[in-house]
Amino acid sequence: MSLSVLEAMSILQPIAPDAVLLPSLPGCSQAKGDEETKFLHKMLDTVASLVKSSSGTPRKQACAVSLSLGQSSCMMTIAFDFSNERTEDVRQLMQSIWRWMKEASVLPEESAEKNQELFEIVFETSLNKFRRRLKEKGWCVDTLITKAMEGDLSKPRKDFLLAAESMYNDLLRQLDVDNPDFTKLANSLSIHVKNYASAKSKMGGFHWLRQYERQIDKPGVKCPGFVRYMDKLLKPYNQYTLFCEATRKPFIRTACSFPLTVTVLPPPDPPSCPVFESTIDLETRVRLYLKSAIHSYSPAAANSSYTDQVIDEYWQRIQQVDRFPPPLGVHCECTLLRHHLNPHPPTPYPYIGVSRPPCFQCALYFQAYRACADGGRILFWTRVGPHGERRACALPTGGSHGPDDAAGERVVKEMGIQLAKVIGYVLTQRIETLLE
Ligand SMILES: [Zn+2]
Repeated sequence: MSLSVLEAMSILQPIAPDAVLLPSLPGCSQAKGDEETKFLHKMLDTVASLVKSSSGTPRKQACAVSLSLGQSSCMMTIAFDFSNERTEDVRQLMQSIWRWMKEASVLPEESAEKNQELFEIVFETSLNKFRRRLKEKGWCVDTLITKAMEGDLSKPRKDFLLAAESMYNDLLRQLDVDNPDFTKLANSLSIHVKNYASAKSKMGGFHWLRQYERQIDKPGVKCPGFVRYMDKLLKPYNQYTLFCEATRKPFIRTACSFPLTVTVLPPPDPPSCPVFESTIDLETRVRLYLKSAIHSYSPAAANSSYTDQVIDEYWQRIQQVDRFPPPLGVHCECTLLRHHLNPHPPTPYPYIGVSRPPCFQCALYFQAYRACADGGRILFWTRVGPHGERRACALPTGGSHGPDDAAGERVVKEMGIQLAKVIGYVLTQRIETLLE
C-alpha cells in the first residue's frame, strides 16, 4: 500500500466533497435485533449522551459506553474523545442512576414519587447545557412563531406552534432561575410534552415551516430547524422516560440487581504529527494509490482508457489542498472497541453506545474489526448515522497494547483495504460517467 490509512483518509476529503458519492459505504453498522435488543442499544446511546452532558467542557466532547454482564457483577466502561477531569462525577452519576433503576425495578407498580428522583438526577445533570440551549438558540422560537402566525395556516398547524410555544416559554420561566423547582417542572412538562406530541402527530410533515425559518435567518446566524430544535430541547425529558421504561425490561432488571463497577478509560494522547510525515514523492505515491484503489474496486475500470485522465483530475484536486491538518485525536468509540479487542471477563455486550453517530472513519474501523473477528471474538456494533465528519482521526494502535498489538494491526490493515475500495468506488463512478 503506497499510502497509510490516515493519508488515504486525508485525500478522501478533496476526492469526495459530495457525500452522495458515498451512498452506503461503509456498509454500516446496525446489528439486527428484536424490540428488546433495539431498546438496549437505545439505552446505551442514551447513557453515553447523558454522561457526555455531565462531563463539562470541552463542548465537542463525545462519549462511548459499553456494558459487561458477569455471573454476579456488572461493569460499565466509558471512553471520551478528550480527557475529562470530572471522571468522579461520571462515576457518581452512573451509580445513582443504577441505584435508582434497581430500586424502581422491584416496586410493585410505577411510582410518581420514585420517578421524581430520577427526573431530578437527569435534569440536574443536563441543566447547564439545557439553559444554554434555551437561551442561546431559543431566539428562533418566538420570532418564528410570530412570523408563521401572520401567514395563512391551518388550525392543526397553528395548534402545533402554540403547543411548542407554550412549552418553550414555560421551560424558560422555570429553568432560568438559580434553584429550579423540579417537582413543578416535572408535572408541567409531562402535560406539555403530551400536548406537543399530540399536535405534532397531526402534522404530515414540516416542509411548510421552511419558508418561515428562511425568513428569520440573520446574517451569519441561521435559524436552527424548528422541530429539530424542539426535539433537542426535550432530550433530557426523553432520557428520563427511557430510564423509567428500562426498569420494566427483564435484561435490565437482571443487570441492575448486580453491583455496578464504572471504569473510565483515559483517552490516548492526541497525535502531534502531521498526517503526511513526508511529502517526498507524494505525487507518485498518490497516483499509485489511486490506481490500485480503482483496481481494488473494479479491475475493468482500472484498465479503462479514461483511468489516467481521472487520476489526473483527482490529483489536481488533492494538490489544491493548502495544508492537510493533523489528524484529530482517537475517537471514543474506537478507544473503547480497542479496549475490548481481547475481552476480559465479564463479557461485554456487543453494542457500544455513543453520544453521537460515529464518523465515517470510525464506522469503517468497526466494519474492519468485524471483518477480522475470528476465533470467537465478539462482533461489536454501534449506532448508524450520517457519518458527518470525514477528517482523519488517529487510530488506536501502537503504544503499549502488549500481545494484542498484532490483532490491532490486522484491523487497521483490513481498514486500509476497505478504504481503498471506497476511494476506488468514487473514482470508478467518474470513469463510468466519462465512458457513457
Ligand atoms: Zn470517529
